[in-house]
Amino acid sequence: MCIKAVYPGSFDPITYGHIDIIERGLKLFDKVVVAILINPNKKPLFTVEERIAMIKKSISHLPQEKIEVSSFTGLLVDYVKKANAKAILRGIRAISDFEYEFQMALTNRKLLKEVDTVFMMPDERFSYLSANLVREVASFGGDISYFVPKHVEEKLKEKFKKGEKNV
Ligand code: ADP
Repeated sequence: MCIKAVYPGSFDPITYGHIDIIERGLKLFDKVVVAILINPNKKPLFTVEERIAMIKKSISHLPQEKIEVSSFTGLLVDYVKKANAKAILRGIRAISDFEYEFQMALTNRKLLKEVDTVFMMPDERFSYLSANLVREVASFGGDISYFVPKHVEEKLKEKFKKGEKNV
């Protein structure tokens, strides 16, 4: 039996923290679906296509037959059900993540009782890292080489060179 987990998020853009969680997830699950949540109320820095391309490039060193990259709108539990996944994979960085994640996990379990959320902690080097922070540092021209792969760094530089104000 193939045990699948969905790893949802914005991935705007993917960071070493996300990659760490995907690598850990692959040790537990037969398949990990990295799923970009399209939130109509948020204006992301990168388009879905750009984010998918960056994710694919960032995980090219991992076993491709075990990973899927896609996007979804609407309820996460509907997507999880359609994907026939057994778990939702999430990363926990600090206590500050806990309350929101706790609420979401219990709500999702209420909506789809056969699916549980599995939390993993990244390597401590990435435990403070968020895509938000990376975008902010990049927008001011700061060094982000410690936070994202080289090709993501270049994409960020390109965006902000074009005068993108949407951090
Ligand atoms: P961000 O908060 O960086 O914008 P996302 O919305 O893309 O992140 O988050 C998707 C999932 O990845 C969430 O479970 C989030 O907690 C997790 N995550 C994000 N950054 C990290 C990190 N540095 N270490 C571990 N998990 C992370």
